Amino acid sequence: MQYYSLGKQSPAVDFKTAAITGQAPDKGLYFPTSIPRFTAEQIERFKTLDKASIAFEVMKPYVGGTIDDASLQQICAETINFDFPLVPITNTIASLELFHGPTLAFKDVGARFMSRCLGYFSKQAAAEKVQNTAQIKSEQKVDNPLLQTKPSTVLVATSGDTGGAVANGFLGVEGVEVIILYPKGKVSPIQELQLTTCGQNITALEVEGSFDDCQAMVKDAFMDGELNAAYHLTSANSINVARWLPQQLYYFFAWQQWVAKNGDAIPMNIVVPSGNFGNICAGMMAKASGLPLGHFVAACNDNNVVTRYLSTGNYAIQKSVATVSNAMDVGNPSNFVRIMEMMQNNFEQLKKGLSSYSYNDISTQATITRVYKEYGYTLDPHGAVAFLAAEAFNQPAIIVETAHPVKFPEVVETAIGQTIAIPPSVQFLLDKEKVAIPMGASFEKFKNWMLSKL
Ligand SMILES: *Cc1c(COP(=O)(O)O)cnc(C)c1O
Repeated sequence: MQYYSLGKQSPAVDFKTAAITGQAPDKGLYFPTSIPRFTAEQIERFKTLDKASIAFEVMKPYVGGTIDDASLQQICAETINFDFPLVPITNTIASLELFHGPTLAFKDVGARFMSRCLGYFSKQAAAEKVQNTAQIKSEQKVDNPLLQTKPSTVLVATSGDTGGAVANGFLGVEGVEVIILYPKGKVSPIQELQLTTCGQNITALEVEGSFDDCQAMVKDAFMDGELNAAYHLTSANSINVARWLPQQLYYFFAWQQWVAKNGDAIPMNIVVPSGNFGNICAGMMAKASGLPLGHFVAACNDNNVVTRYLSTGNYAIQKSVATVSNAMDVGNPSNFVRIMEMMQNNFEQLKKGLSSYSYNDISTQATITRVYKEYGYTLDPHGAVAFLAAEAFNQPAIIVETAHPVKFPEVVETAIGQTIAIPPSVQFLLDKEKVAIPMGASFEKFKNWMLSKL
């Protein structure tokens, strides 16, 4: 399996290179040269197969031999070692709860898979380096970027969820340092603890600015000659195929539960709260591989480029606006080009596979209140946007609950008039002490700090 750049100016690469470099040299996103097709027998078996085996069968073609089977099996088993329950809310809407991972966010799946892949490649590079030093002259060209002596460093800007999932996923992975930039005072208390209490190879920078400032600092770092000469920099957002592709897995787990309950005559329509569109795009890949999924619906907040595109045919990116479902505050969704590629860049074909609705904060908050009162189910703000979209779509559907409501306590507790109990899995964080390096919202300051710690 090879990956080509959607920028069309860079050569195709294997999974390993795509995972290590993140983006192609021409700044395009990588996309698989062919989408694997499951056989009818495989699909039939997926109805009852265990999660780890499904994960291995789904990911194996994408990894394309760059990780040996035994290691990939282990990576897959570790990636998905928690529950993905499909919980009914109404007679026609069920919630796929993707918040039972270690940081209570769906991003755990992608972050755990990607970190373990990079850990594998890093170990392999260390072994190759020993061999190379013994056998060949140092000027011999090597094609493994991790073989360079530069420290391998993952940079992430986060509005809350990404940082925690990446920190947790990469904690203790040898040969990889992680630096997380988060906006001071703008992430929730639990999210902040998840970012700042890891230690080891994880460093948190508390930036005196907004999420956009953090993102701009990271983007500038990727473009900076001196920093790139000193470090091997990688990003851990959904642009990276190793984070994006494993997100397909939970649609297999959801479908398994759906079929067990409803049989396979009723299509499982899927509503995904979307920001950068990595998650929904991964689901659409699963469908393109032959998993019999229904229609996809992208639920958006006021950052609704795609909703407007589907209704007007005019794709107009915008500056992001702040909302209560802040993980979806994206004005220019990076993965949408992948969806268009899958749809042969054909607008009519896109409309057949994807719908979109958008809702403002007032409707979102009112929905959290209403669903709690009427059905006794506590939605998080992102799930609430999805619930509204599912009602508008008006056919049996699952909504993807992308994060636990406890991560957005101000909004949710006000909406339901109750405090939310902190799940035992994150209770331990409350005894930990935050460690973060204060950082001005300036690329120069960030760069000087990076160079000073070499
Ligand atoms: C990241 C995130 C999203 C958006 O996912 P995309 O793949 O960027 O579309 C939605 N909800 C929550 C809680 C998130 O953390």
